[in-house]
Amino acid sequence: MIGEPGGQMDILQFSFAELQAQMAMWGEPRFRAQQIWQWIYQHLVGTFDDMTNLPLKLRERLARHYRLTPLTPLDEQVSADGLTHKVLFSLPDGETIESVLMAYERRQTVCVSSQVGCPIGCPFCATGQCGLTRDLTTAEIVAQPLYFGQQLRDRDMSVTNVVLMGMGEPFLNYDAVWAAIERWNDHTGLDLGARRMTISTAGHVPGIRRMAQEPLQVGLAISLHAADDTLRDELVPLNRAYPLAELLDACREYVSTTRRRITIEYALIDQVNDSIEQAVQLADLLEGLLCHINLIPLNPTEESEYRPSPPVRVTHFQVTLLERQIPATIRLGRGIEIQAGCGQLRRRYSGQ
Ligand code: SAH
Ligand code: SF4
Repeated sequence: MIGEPGGQMDILQFSFAELQAQMAMWGEPRFRAQQIWQWIYQHLVGTFDDMTNLPLKLRERLARHYRLTPLTPLDEQVSADGLTHKVLFSLPDGETIESVLMAYERRQTVCVSSQVGCPIGCPFCATGQCGLTRDLTTAEIVAQPLYFGQQLRDRDMSVTNVVLMGMGEPFLNYDAVWAAIERWNDHTGLDLGARRMTISTAGHVPGIRRMAQEPLQVGLAISLHAADDTLRDELVPLNRAYPLAELLDACREYVSTTRRRITIEYALIDQVNDSIEQAVQLADLLEGLLCHINLIPLNPTEESEYRPSPPVRVTHFQVTLLERQIPATIRLGRGIEIQAGCGQLRRRYSGQ
């Protein structure tokens, strides 16, 4: 359990069984745990006091012992079109993380962080420039969509999708991430379908193999960004531990075990990974793999020299893939003007 000097623990850290056990220890009737669970995960209340069918004494006792959320919003940016909300949260120990709500195609997708910083160090990524501070707890991960769910509820909407594409490498914090996924999926709570959730990895092979064995049908995205080891060693340094041949083996095994299509993320960087030859190489690498490529013109960061590919190079790259029967769509960087790229708001904040 996550303790704090103030003695408060995160109620979001509890599984339902743990909450039941705690209520039993307090001598509460059996149905209390279910009531509390519904207040947290279905009604998305902001305080224990809002749990109006609980006796006042119990509400007070809960508030003395538990925090309802470990997240305190510090800063928020909304894109000019109003469709992207990015929030910087502070955590109980003073660290900060970002989460983003993106509204498109009638979806409300929350982009969730899994770590404070990230140890992988991709040079184009704002998070990668900070290094890793620590893993997030299950409560800190679970709480991110709940925050946006509360805001959306007031507008008669709800979170429809979750992507683990915020700060951090989710497979380096597997247990906490998977516990959060199971929590969001729980039918007596948020009830988010497994297929509405996606984990994005820089290519952590043991994580991919482990996920292939999970019963929940959660989506998998691989941040590839290069189709040869020399370039990928530089762009996604995790490649030095799990080179392309090993990564592709794990992907093939994943598809044959799960029968699910993999999403390949490819950030197009001007004159670095966006030539026709590189598109051909990528098509060769992925031949026969059940996958779909998302081409994303790089979101430039202040710290790196890399620039997004111009539209004509993006189009040529896509056409080259399509000609080789590799499905590829272009994802336009959403909310570039609010620095929606991974870790960018936090960088700016800490630089102030
Ligand atoms: N660590 C995981 C998940 C978080 S990063 C991973 O790397 O997959 C989520 C996605 O954002 C990854 O595909 C990552 O490569 C991409 N990304 C990071 N910085 C970016 C930038 N400046 N422009 C475009 N995509 C970026
Ligand atoms: Fe970490 Fe992903 Fe950023 Fe690479 S792109 S540094 S793996 S968060």
